[in-house]
Amino acid sequence: MRKRVLITGAAGFLGSHLCERFVKDDYHVIAMDNLITGRLSNLEHLMPKENFEFYHQDVSNFIHVPGKLDYILHFASPASPIDYLKIPIQTLKVGSLGIHNCLGLARVKNARVLIASTSEVYGDPEVHPQTEEYWGNVNPIGPRGVYDEAKRFQEAITMAYHTYHGVETRIARIFNTYGPRMRLNDGRVLPAFIGQALRGEDLTVFGDGSQTRSFCYVDDLVEGLVRLLHSDYTLPVNLGNPDEITISDFAEEIIKLTGTTQKVIYQDLPVNDPKQRQPDITKAKEILDWIPKVSRGEGLKITYAYFKGLSKDELFKKEHNNFEEYIK
Ligand code: NAD
Ligand code: UDP
Repeated sequence: MRKRVLITGAAGFLGSHLCERFVKDDYHVIAMDNLITGRLSNLEHLMPKENFEFYHQDVSNFIHVPGKLDYILHFASPASPIDYLKIPIQTLKVGSLGIHNCLGLARVKNARVLIASTSEVYGDPEVHPQTEEYWGNVNPIGPRGVYDEAKRFQEAITMAYHTYHGVETRIARIFNTYGPRMRLNDGRVLPAFIGQALRGEDLTVFGDGSQTRSFCYVDDLVEGLVRLLHSDYTLPVNLGNPDEITISDFAEEIIKLTGTTQKVIYQDLPVNDPKQRQPDITKAKEILDWIPKVSRGEGLKITYAYFKGLSKDELFKKEHNNFEEYIK
């Protein structure tokens, strides 16, 4: 009998890679998404597979899945600052009502839940690199608060279901991850820079570019998530690549990679933009025997090849996503 896994946010960037991995590993994959920031085209290649099915559903409303369920991976949530600033209430709902529904379903089905938490729970961190013990520095009423606090609540309710109802739970704190199937216009720095290079526009660095991030290639992340799911560790685990870089150096790397003759221009730094971010992955190393293997150089080459293959229409598309359909 195949193990059955429900993946929410399946049509998004990370969700689609997870679906691919679990289909390949011969699980029965139930993919769920309301397509608010995701795209069915991310899952097209999986649709013909007999061990894959898709439910078009908002997980913030009651969810029903017939049959047994072994695992639930809750990845539904807008994830880029542009997205969650445009749809703040939906972001708060999917991080609270959405996970509540998943945990309720897990109780009924006796399934194990893994949640996609984030380095944003650390906010603008005063501890560097960030360890899981750090409680964070988040402005609850700032523009990023809708995302950061939803994710913090998500961790709290997940721990409560574990403690009070005995639900098996796993918490992944995911740091900036990139790869094919990111949306070119979701506003995140990597697709922003590559899109600008491909369209012949200048690269927009926010602030003075001295803020840092640490970028993890998607295949490494997926491997870490699978290992965490199958581990017996119930406290949060950081998953990310500790190779830290300033955003201005990152812009230079993209200029080199793409061969663009455009230059860097500087724009205002968004409010509460974290100044530094690097995961301490000691726990992941010790508990999961996991370290990221793909260097930024290799990962960027693969990702650039993907973006280069997109149509002109896609490259110049103005709208960010499907919001208009959802916000009346
Ligand atoms: P994404 O926007 O590509 O994917 C999110 C998916 O969730 C989309 O397909 C969207 O349509 C779906 N969704 C949103 N609200 C929903 C709802 N109410 N019901 C059903 N589906 C819904 O973003 P991503 O980068 O793939 O992120 C996936 C998850 O990983 C998110 O929870 C995000 O917070 C987390 N995460 C991502 C990163 C990263 O670097 N990519 C870092 C930390 C955490
Ligand atoms: N950023 C930038 N130019 C852009 C988009 C983003 O300089 O066109 C910066 C942004 O201010 C942040 C960093 O790049 O400091 C990473 O931004 P992203 O939105 O990708 O992720 P997050 O801030 O959530 O880590």
